[in-house]
Amino acid sequence: MSSKKFDYSLKYIIVGEAGVGKSNLLLRYVYDSFKEDYQLTIGVEFGEKLVKYNNKTYKIQIWDTAGQEQFRSITRAYFKSSICSFVVYDITNRETFENVKHWVEDCMNYMPKNVLIFLVGNKSDLEEQRKISKDEGEELADSFGLSFFETSAKNNVNVNSIFGKSLEEIVKRIDSNYYDLNDESCGIKRGNINNKNAKLNNNKNDKNKKKRFC
Ligand code: GDP
Ligand code: MG
Repeated sequence: MSSKKFDYSLKYIIVGEAGVGKSNLLLRYVYDSFKEDYQLTIGVEFGEKLVKYNNKTYKIQIWDTAGQEQFRSITRAYFKSSICSFVVYDITNRETFENVKHWVEDCMNYMPKNVLIFLVGNKSDLEEQRKISKDEGEELADSFGLSFFETSAKNNVNVNSIFGKSLEEIVKRIDSNYYDLNDESCGIKRGNINNKNAKLNNNKNDKNKKKRFC
């Protein structure tokens, strides 16, 4: 996978309390699968996917973190140099919603200042057990100035949308030179296609120079 060609790699992180569905959002997006039984994430897990968008290829690298307090300092170490963060809660569990503010604060304190943060209310398939209305989720997202989505990793609802929407936003920002791509900690790296193009361009420039000076 990593030897495949891409224009940019983008570092994402998924955070939130244990059991909200972070690992399954990753599983659904990268492998289109879902695990019914709950397996605690220890420390940090990883998945990546190549995505084509507007004639360019992006390698989305996703760090899936453990929500428990004892892993919090490990998680924070991964905040550095991420370009996008999904803060996830479970729409059937108010405690996970109430803790969102701590995760958003962590993102704001430990991630690069240009980070894009999405609030994600997962398990939208469990409508009968819903404890947090969509309006309440939207209000909280608005209060922090974040984009908001409800997802179901189980039924594959909006999972592609959160990644698609964030990619669209990041590409817009790349195109308007919003990021300093020379700064390694900005969460975006130029890929092997870019380097090849850069070489080709340099060769072309050399030829042009030669032409001009002949
Ligand atoms: P994490 O601790 O945040 O990584 O949560 P997991 O992805 O391990 O999921 C915790 C539990 O919730 C597991 O039993 C999953 O099967 C379940 N789960 C995750 N996403 C969904 C969802 O969208 N809908 C439902 N009904 N269950 C989910
Ligand atoms: Mg997990």
